[in-house]
Amino acid sequence: MAKTPQDVLRQIKDEGIELIDLKFTDLHGKWQHLTVCTDLLEEDSFTEGLAFDGSSIRGWKSINASDMAMVPDASTAWIDPFYRHKTLSMICSIQEPRSGEAYDRCPRALAQRALNHLSSTGLADTAFFGPEPEFFLFDDVRYNSSEGGAFYSVDTIEASWNTGRLEEGGNLAYKIQLKEGYFPVAPNDTAQDIRSEMLLLMGQLGIPTEKHHHEVAGAGQHELGMKFAELIQAADNVMTYKYVVRNVAKKYGKTATFMPKPVFNDNGSGMHVHQSLWKGGQPLFFGEGTYANLSQTARWYIGGILKHAPAFLAFTNPTTNSYKRLVPGFEAPVNLVYSEGNRSAAVRIPLTGPSPKAKRLEFRSGDALANPYLAFSAMVMAGLDGIKNQIDPGDGEDRDLFELPAEELAKIATVPPSLNGALEALNADRGFLTTGGVFSDDFIDNWIDLKYEEVQQLRQRPHPHEFAMYYDA
Ligand code: GLN
Ligand code: MG
Ligand code: MG
Ligand code: MG
Repeated sequence: MAKTPQDVLRQIKDEGIELIDLKFTDLHGKWQHLTVCTDLLEEDSFTEGLAFDGSSIRGWKSINASDMAMVPDASTAWIDPFYRHKTLSMICSIQEPRSGEAYDRCPRALAQRALNHLSSTGLADTAFFGPEPEFFLFDDVRYNSSEGGAFYSVDTIEASWNTGRLEEGGNLAYKIQLKEGYFPVAPNDTAQDIRSEMLLLMGQLGIPTEKHHHEVAGAGQHELGMKFAELIQAADNVMTYKYVVRNVAKKYGKTATFMPKPVFNDNGSGMHVHQSLWKGGQPLFFGEGTYANLSQTARWYIGGILKHAPAFLAFTNPTTNSYKRLVPGFEAPVNLVYSEGNRSAAVRIPLTGPSPKAKRLEFRSGDALANPYLAFSAMVMAGLDGIKNQIDPGDGEDRDLFELPAEELAKIATVPPSLNGALEALNADRGFLTTGGVFSDDFIDNWIDLKYEEVQQLRQRPHPHEFAMYYDA
C-alpha cells in the first residue's frame, strides 16, 4: 500500500524524524533539494506545497517571477541513507504557489499530464516502463573546464578504470579488455561489493530490484536491474537509482558517470526502456500468432515510436555526447526498425513467455542522461500518435544490421547523427508532443534553446583529438 500524507505525518512523530528533505527533478534530470524542519510539513503541504525560490534553477523562472511551491508525494517517502541526521526524503512536483496549477516546466508534472492525456483518449489508462540505466565507475576524472584553453586527456580516464590497479609498468593481469566486461567473475570483476551494496540499498528504499552485473565495456561499466513500474514511479526509480549509485560510489572513493560515451572504442552506456500500455488492468500489446505476438495496438505504437524517434531523441538522447554512443558496432542501435530479438534494431521485442502481461517493446537507443519524466512522456506520446493515426511499422527486421552491405543499409532510416540534428527534428515534428497540452510550445522552445547552447559550447572548443589529426598537419 502506498503511503498517504497521514502515514508520513505519523511516521515523523513515531520514528523521531529530525528533518524533511524535499527533492525535485530539474529540466536536465538532476535532483535538487531543500531540507525543512518537521513542523513545516502539515497536511496542507501535500496539496498546496511548500514555497521556495525557483529563480536559480537552470531553464526555469526568471528572478522577477520566481516563487514556486514543492508538493511532496507521500508515496515516495524513505529515510535518506546518506545523511547523518534522521531525515525523511520525499520526491516533489512543482506548482505555481498562487494558482495551485502545475508548473509548466516541471518534468514530473509534465509526466502526469501525459498520463492524464493517455486516459482521456480512452485508448489506454496507464503505461508501464522498465528502464535499464548503465553507468561507469571511475576512480576520478580530471577535467579542466578549458579556461585558458587547457583540455583533459582521455588517458586520464583510461588510467583510472578498473579500480585501484597500478597501470604503467604494473601488473596488468585480470584487467578486463575493451568490450569484454560481460561478465567474468572476480578478480576480473572488481566491483561486486559496490554493486551489491547499491542494489540492496535500492531494495531497502522500496525499489523492486532484480539483479546486478558488470556490463560489456571493459573500462568498468555496470548495470543494476529494477522491475518495471507505472510511468511516474519508474521515472522516480531512475532518479533514486542514480542517487544511490553516485553516493555509494563516493563512499568507496569512486565516481559514477552516466555519460553515454566516456571511453573511445569501448561500449557506451545506454538506458534501454521497456514499455507497454494497459487498460482496465489488461495488457494491450499481446496478440496471438502474429509476428512476435504483437497486437495491432502494439504495432501502431511501434509505428509512432519509429516515426517520431528523430524528434524525441532530443529528450531520450539529450547531450552532445549521446551521439558519440550512437555509432555502429557498440550495441547502441542507430537503425529505426523493430525486431524480435535483434539487438541492432532501435526497437526490440523481447522474447517472452505465454503471459500477455509480459508483452512489451524495448526502445534501445536512449541513454541515461535523459530526464526520465520527459523521455518516457515523449515516447508514450509518440506511441499514442501511432495508435491514433494507425501508423504501420512495416515488417520486423531480423537481419543483423551491423553486418548488412552498404546499399541495403542505405534503405534503412537512422537516428540523427548529432544533438543538433535531433533538435532540428524536434523543432519540425512537435505536434505529437503538444497534443492535449502535454508539452507546450514554450516548453519545447525553451528546451531547444537550452540544448542548442550545449551544442555551441562544444562547437567552439578545440577537441583533444583535433591535436592528433591537425597539430602538425
Ligand atoms: N551498452 C549497450 C548500449 O549502449 C547495451 C548493452 C546491453 O545491455 N546489452 O546500449
Ligand atoms: Mg539489461
Ligand atoms: Mg545493459
Ligand atoms: Mg536491455
